[in-house]
Formats: sequence, structure tokens, C-alpha cells
Amino acid sequence: MSTELGSDADWTQGIPRILYSRCRRCGRRGYLPRDRCPTCGHDRIDRLPSDGVGTVTAITVVHRAPRGGDHPPTPFGICLVELDEQVRAMGRCAPTLTVGDRVRADFTHEVPYFEMVD
Ligand SMILES: [Zn+2]
Repeated sequence: MSTELGSDADWTQGIPRILYSRCRRCGRRGYLPRDRCPTCGHDRIDRLPSDGVGTVTAITVVHRAPRGGDHPPTPFGICLVELDEQVRAMGRCAPTLTVGDRVRADFTHEVPYFEMVD
């Protein structure tokens, strides 16, 4: 893990983990980094590491990728995962996953890729 990137670095900077935000006042959690809590307005928001494990709450299977851009071979899945830290994160997945499957984030792709937990 790089020491130059600091504790706020996550997969978007090449560090293999998902971070989430938690308000120090009210405890509200969310996926995105924020300067202020959208619930209570407090400005002390911690960024904490997730274990990357959760449950699929929605999945879309892409059969025909949009033109342009860099897409994986079709079909591929895009899933919404309720992480065990009660934060929802989006990522790619196999098109065979279904709602309710337990998954874990893998960081060997350019975006989090959720795979079935054995
Ligand atoms: Zn708050």
C-alpha cells in the first residue's frame, strides 16, 4: 500500500479497497466522500475501509455495450451491492449473479468486480 496516497486513497487511486463515509455526529454512512453530512450538516466525516463483502441488491446484464469507451466482453453484469457496513456500492460482476447472492469485491479489474463468496 502506498504511503504517498494517504488514508483517503481507494480503488479510484489504485489502492485495492472500497472506502465509505461516516458522520462523526449522527453516524450516517454513504459511499461518496463528502465535506458535510447531508443529514445533519456536520463537517467531520470519517473515511473508513470496507471489507468489500456484501449482498447483491440489484443487477443489470449488459448484452450490447455502448459504442466507444473501454468495455468488457458482453454479456457482463453491473451490480449494486449492500456492503456489510450498510453502504451501497456499484461494480461489475458476472451476468449470472442474482439478487441476494453474497459477494466480495475483487480489485484486479479497473473497477471493483464482485464475485460470489464461497
Ligand atoms: Zn450527520
